[in-house]
Amino acid sequence: LMSALLVVLALLIFAIDTFTPLDMAIAVMYVVVVLLSVNLWRRRGVLLASAACLFLTVLSYGLTHTMVFSGPASGRLVVSLAAISITAWLALRGQAATAALLAREEALRVSRLQLAHVTRVTMLGELAASIAHEVNQPLAAISTNGQACLRWLQRAQPDLEEARSAVTSMLEASARATGVIRRIRSLARRGDPQYSALDLNSVAQDSVDLMRRELHQQHVRLRLALAPALPPVLADRVQLQQVIINLLMNAVQAMAAQPAAEAPLWLELRTLRQPDGALQLAVTDNGPGIAGADLPRLFEPFFSTKTDGMGMGLPICRSIIETHGGRIWAESGSAAAGATLAFTLPVQEPQP
Ligand code: ADP
Repeated sequence: LMSALLVVLALLIFAIDTFTPLDMAIAVMYVVVVLLSVNLWRRRGVLLASAACLFLTVLSYGLTHTMVFSGPASGRLVVSLAAISITAWLALRGQAATAALLAREEALRVSRLQLAHVTRVTMLGELAASIAHEVNQPLAAISTNGQACLRWLQRAQPDLEEARSAVTSMLEASARATGVIRRIRSLARRGDPQYSALDLNSVAQDSVDLMRRELHQQHVRLRLALAPALPPVLADRVQLQQVIINLLMNAVQAMAAQPAAEAPLWLELRTLRQPDGALQLAVTDNGPGIAGADLPRLFEPFFSTKTDGMGMGLPICRSIIETHGGRIWAESGSAAAGATLAFTLPVQEPQP
């Protein structure tokens, strides 16, 4: 429709230019056609439209002037042709610049999604043993209860009550296994973020569940201090889980890397509501802490003190938290604790 209107506009200008006795450079109005065409068509279309405007200008001149040169009229012709050409050139340049810019934002977004996917899958790889254990436990429970159930049924006097309770346990265990698989599947999923109203505590709990075995293996005691009745945050569940798991993994790795300590290793995950209403989640460990000189560089891409570190964990955490409208930071050096990594998220205000 817009394209048709543009053609009509061009023809209108042509008609006025050709059939009204106005001594003005009407043809300059063709620049409007050129400017509008930039929003409608690609480069080729704009070039064609500009060429058509130039042609109509010359055609109109040819129809209304018997002499090729006629002082002021020729001057108006040249001015019109120049105006149309210059406008077309500037418009095309602007169009190309915008296109290049769009391709760069978009490329950035795609590469960030890919990177986030890679670190997520890497994390899953590191968590493989824990995950296998998480699924194995309910499977073992199903098998044990299945055998018990058979025994109750094979008695001379089958004990249906006991059999029923064994089957109930089997169903519970299978639901637990399904839950683990669901969490892993959603974590491995790749795609654009999906925002929904989430309970930060439940996301934290899900992340901790995936880390349990890892914590157990490294002899790390976990304290959960979840503030009750927090308002929901508007966030992507997978991305938040990724941030929390990353913070927990970093803490475990930092503690595991230090020379055997006398003090037992512990880790605390707290959620709380800040005075300004925002929610805060903090992970504190009693590992070696972070050197003062490293603190400002922690969130820089590729900054890592590990021999095999990628240094992308915290930058991705920061990018995720900031796109959620929050803030993330690190603290170190307070008494008795190692490092604290914390982030805030704005709460989703209830719609009035
Ligand atoms: P990577 O884990 O690949 O090194 P990150 O961006 O996740 O990349 O972490 C960057 C650096 O931050 C780590 O190499 C480590 O030096 C430091 N760091 C992160 N968390 C902790 C922590 N809990 N204790 C001590 N150092 C930490």
